Amino acid sequence: MFKAIVIEKDETGYRASLKDVDESQLPAGDVTVRVSHSTLNYKDGLAITGKGRVVRKFPMVPGVDLVGTVEESSHSSYRVGDAVLLNGWGVGEGHWGGLAQKARLKGEWLVPLPSRFTPQQAMAIGTAGYTAMLCVLALERHGVTPDQGEILVTGAAGGVGSVAVSILSKLGYTVVGVSGRLAESDYIKSLGASEVLERAAFSSAGKPLGRERWAGAVDVVGSHTLANVCATTKYRGIVTACGLAGGMDFPATVAPFILRGVTLVGVDSVMCPRADRLVAWQRLGSDLDISKLNLITHEIGLAEAIPTATRLLDGQVRGRVVVDVNA
Ligand code: NDP
Repeated sequence: MFKAIVIEKDETGYRASLKDVDESQLPAGDVTVRVSHSTLNYKDGLAITGKGRVVRKFPMVPGVDLVGTVEESSHSSYRVGDAVLLNGWGVGEGHWGGLAQKARLKGEWLVPLPSRFTPQQAMAIGTAGYTAMLCVLALERHGVTPDQGEILVTGAAGGVGSVAVSILSKLGYTVVGVSGRLAESDYIKSLGASEVLERAAFSSAGKPLGRERWAGAVDVVGSHTLANVCATTKYRGIVTACGLAGGMDFPATVAPFILRGVTLVGVDSVMCPRADRLVAWQRLGSDLDISKLNLITHEIGLAEAIPTATRLLDGQVRGRVVVDVNA
C-alpha cells in the first residue's frame, strides 16, 4: 500500500482525498518509481479543485511533476536505484501522477535527475521552473539579448514568474515584473527585478498599440494582459506566452504583429520533445541561482496539497510549493 491523493468523480460529485492505495492499482508502465517529492503547479490546482477540466479519467492521482528513485524497471535506460525526474507528458491528467508515494510510468518520459540538484531543488523548479526556462530559451532563440532593453514578466510572484525573473536577471537582462500583489514587490525585486508594475495596468482592455517598452516578455496570464503586453512590445520584440492565469482568451488586434513585427511565441512544456527538455534542465543547472530557490520555495506534506491547491488558484501562494510525499 502507498499514500496518494486520489481524485474521484461520480454521482456524489468531484473530490480529492488522501488515500491508501494498493500497488496493484498502479497503471501500466515499464518503470516504477518510489517518489520522494512532487510539487503543486497551477494545473495541479485545477485538477485537485476540479476548477479546470484537467483530469481526463477517474480515479486519478494528480501531480504533473515528480522526483524519486527507480524501484523496478524493464526499460533499458533505467536501473533500480537511479534518481529520476518527470515533468508533464499528461501525467497527473490522463496517467497517475506524482502526488503519491509511488508511480508507474513510461521510461521514455523520465529524465535522469540532474546532478546539480537535490530532489527538493528539482521539484522547487518543477514544471513551472522548467517552463520559465523554455520561455527564456525561446527569447534567446529569437535573438533577444540583454542590451536590447527591458523584459517584462507577468504573474511575477507566482511559480513560472518567480523562476523567470531569477533566470533572466542572472543572465543580465533588466527585468520588470507585473504583479497583483504589490506587497510582494520586495520579494520580486530580491529575485532580480528592477521594477514591479501593478497588474491592474494590464488586465483590462487597452489600445491596439501603446508606447513601445519591452524587448521581450514572458506572459503567464493570457487574456487582456497578453494583448496589452504585445501592444507595448518594441519593434521586432518577442513575447512568449505560456499561461492562462487571467483567462484563456486573447482579445487582441494584429497591429503589434503587422506594424511592429512583434513575434508571439507559444511555449508548451507538456509534450516538449525530450532533447529540448534536457537542454532546459541543463541550462537551469547553469543559469538559475540555486540560492534563490530558497526564497522562492516552501515545503508541505502530502495531505496539505489539497487545501494548498485552493490557495494557489486564489493567487495566495508565493513562488513554488514542494510536496514531500512522505511527510
Ligand atoms: P501560479 O499560481 O504559481 O502563478 C500564477 C500567477 O499569475 C499568480 O501568482 C499571480 O501572480 C498571477 N495571476 C493569478 N491570477 C491572475 C489573474 N486573474 N490575472 C492576472 N494575473 C493573475 O501558477 P504557475 O506559475 O504554476 O503557472 C502560471 C500559468 O502558466 C498558469 O496559467 C499555468 O497553467 C501556466 N503554465 C503553462 C505551462 C505550459 O506548458 N504552457 C507550464 C506551467 C504553467 P501575481 O500575484 O504576481 O500577480
